[in-house]
Amino acid sequence: MSDVKKCAHELCSCTVSGKDKYCSQSCEDNKGITQLTCDCKHPECSSKL
Ligand SMILES: [Zn+2]
Ligand SMILES: [Zn+2]
Repeated sequence: MSDVKKCAHELCSCTVSGKDKYCSQSCEDNKGITQLTCDCKHPECSSKL
């Protein structure tokens, strides 16, 4: 089992491994913004519309 956790962005359901807090630069840029959807373009997020 690897160390996998959820992206630190509230609305993002992507998983992050290692010491990264966010799955993408997009999530890190939007960390203080509660958008309707995550804009990271990852399939985990775009599929849950
Ligand atoms: Zn995401
Ligand atoms: Zn994310």
